Amino acid sequence: MQLPVITETPSFLFGVLLGSLLLCVGLCLGLWFGRRMAMLYDVRSMDREQLQHLLSGLYQWTNGFASDVSQYRECMDRISTQLSPDDVQTDDGQVTTLMAQIVQANEQLQQRLNNAEAALQDQAEEITAYMCEARTDKLTDLPNRRAFDDELTRRMAEWRRNETPVNVVILDIDHFKMFNDRYGHAAGDAVLVEVARVMNTVTRESDVVARLGGEEFAVVLGGVEASEARRAAERIRKAVAATAFRYEGKSLRVTVSCGVAQAITAEDGASLVKRADEALYASKAAGRNVSHWHDSERCILLTASSPAGRTPDLTPPPPPTDGEFVQVCDDLRQRLLEVTKEDA
Ligand code: GH3
Ligand code: MG
Ligand code: MG
Repeated sequence: MQLPVITETPSFLFGVLLGSLLLCVGLCLGLWFGRRMAMLYDVRSMDREQLQHLLSGLYQWTNGFASDVSQYRECMDRISTQLSPDDVQTDDGQVTTLMAQIVQANEQLQQRLNNAEAALQDQAEEITAYMCEARTDKLTDLPNRRAFDDELTRRMAEWRRNETPVNVVILDIDHFKMFNDRYGHAAGDAVLVEVARVMNTVTRESDVVARLGGEEFAVVLGGVEASEARRAAERIRKAVAATAFRYEGKSLRVTVSCGVAQAITAEDGASLVKRADEALYASKAAGRNVSHWHDSERCILLTASSPAGRTPDLTPPPPPTDGEFVQVCDDLRQRLLEVTKEDA
């Protein structure tokens, strides 16, 4: 009469074990997918190749995981069949063996789950790296336009909640096309990197310096009064103008024009940026290398004495000397002779 009791107990235990394990697995999966879904907005910023790589990783992991769980189920089904209460042959020794098999199967699954967890951790790090890449400007390592827009949206929401002022400075390198034409694109790239470095040096840690694209940069300043934002714009402008950028032994100089604005009631981020842009264009129109402040109605010059036209190092190159001219003519003659020989 005791045998059915013994056989029913392991079956019951087995049921509880399997149930709890599947519940844990379900919870883990739910948590993991929940966290990944929260990242979906940023995942959308990845390019096609990155998404494919990520999805193939997930696919492999899901397949591996499904196969581990199905192996576990098969093992449990096998044991369950042997523990059937109808099987009056089952004795204490067999029950102990079957229980040992359950423990072993659990340990194996646990090990596989640990491996899967480690693989998921690697993948989460990969996703974070991708997201970071999608929000960082490759050349200067600054946050890009997307990151700037997100930061501005966040600070605008904070301003509406706590009335923490939000200021934006937009700046653009002056005559940069001419600079590239004269010194080459690589020199231009080196200057962009250095301008980014100078901007980071003269701003506070809580300010977000971003490259909006091309030779245009921006700073979001939170929690400071308009006067401090205006000073920050002038500090950046002066620091750039005072920097001698070294490139291939040459000392190069550029200037920037700035526009500053502070968020006003009922304004959104786009409108704030538009006003800062208007102030920037007022600076360009005033001759460049100056800053303007948009007071919600008009643009006001911030730079005390206009230094425009003083710094840009863009005078046309000197004409060639007689010696250089003769050399160029010789080269051309030589090249023409070669071409004539090739044709003959
Ligand atoms: P302004 O003073 O009115 O701003 O004149 P600008 O010449 O700076 O402006 P424009 O819009 O005419 O030209 C911008 C130049 O910036 C042209 C483009 O070659 C250069 N530029 C944009 N992005 C990069 C970049 O990543 N590297 C380099 N080297 N140059 C860039
Ligand atoms: Mg420019
Ligand atoms: Mg520009």
